[in-house]
Amino acid sequence: MSLDHSLPVQGHLFDIPTDFHNDPTVYASPERTICLWDVGGGIPCGTCISVLDLSKHVRMHGVKGPGDLEIQCTWDGCARSPMKRESIVRHIEEVHVQVKYRCSQCWASFSRKHTLRSHIFKAHSHVS
Ligand SMILES: [Zn+2]
Ligand SMILES: [Zn+2]
Ligand SMILES: [Zn+2]
Repeated sequence: MSLDHSLPVQGHLFDIPTDFHNDPTVYASPERTICLWDVGGGIPCGTCISVLDLSKHVRMHGVKGPGDLEIQCTWDGCARSPMKRESIVRHIEEVHVQVKYRCSQCWASFSRKHTLRSHIFKAHSHVS
């Protein structure tokens, strides 16, 4: 039996893995943030978390369920109206943490993981 076939074809630009936070080609800046999600009575969570674990972490605060479920952001007294569960992590990253994602190959920075992902595919298609 031979398994010496070459690398898979790089054609799936939109095939974005869901475990993207484990991608070693991605750096977030800042790397860590203090979670300011209101855990009740105006008390912020206060946990120091990795920005790449943000979506995992806020699940503990009830940010889970169907992607179109509307959830109120309570990060640092946020006054926005409820938004979709699938948008809320991006909202926290962009508005509250102001995280930038950096390409580990050329240090270009992006405010969205998806933008960085397509940059990596376009500019560095032979990421190993
Ligand atoms: Zn928290
Ligand atoms: Zn907010
Ligand atoms: Zn790059």
